[in-house]
Amino acid sequence: MMKIRKLFKFEAAHIVRDCSTVRCRQNIHGHSFKVELVLQARGLDNAGMVMDFGLLKCRISSFFDAFDHSYIIWSADKGGLVDFIKNENERWVELPFSPSAENLALFFHVVVQGILNNTVPVNGADDVKVHSVRVHETETGWAETEADDIALLEGMAAAAIGSVFSDGIMDDSGNWAETWACLRENPDCLSAPQEHRLFRYAEIAEQAV
Ligand SMILES: [Zn+2]
Repeated sequence: MMKIRKLFKFEAAHIVRDCSTVRCRQNIHGHSFKVELVLQARGLDNAGMVMDFGLLKCRISSFFDAFDHSYIIWSADKGGLVDFIKNENERWVELPFSPSAENLALFFHVVVQGILNNTVPVNGADDVKVHSVRVHETETGWAETEADDIALLEGMAAAAIGSVFSDGIMDDSGNWAETWACLRENPDCLSAPQEHRLFRYAEIAEQAV
């Protein structure tokens, strides 16, 4: 199995309510998040690559960029805080699960897999899958998924579709608004390769220019 890694970065704030660290569960705080996305394939494409990252970069980059300078809300957090963030911030992402590094890694894993599951393979690309997603919140700590965390990933695939991105994000999102609308309309794509795929490399490559 060949693997390739791509690093994405964004700045965001959250509270992790059930965290054992008091500072984490009681205070709004921010991180310079680093996300290491590792893709795997059984074979190589006609260019001798797992896949050309340049071809996919556009949709996946737009996804991670949606989180930049955002507040990541847990929908079950205190109503006063949720209302305040929504009223006073342009950029927020509301998740139906606690925004821990672990849950964010699972969320990123299923959404990127959903994009891959919806992308028409070209150039002999061979069944490219997400191998793992490692989310660094700090210089010293990270959380990582594995493709065989089946129960965790299935649970996240079911929950992920309930996430909401603010208008402030969607109005300035590259093609993330369109991509998220496609995924939400067809939630099965988060857990299984699709027969009728909507995303084409050619379109993505043109948009990336
Ligand atoms: Zn934190």
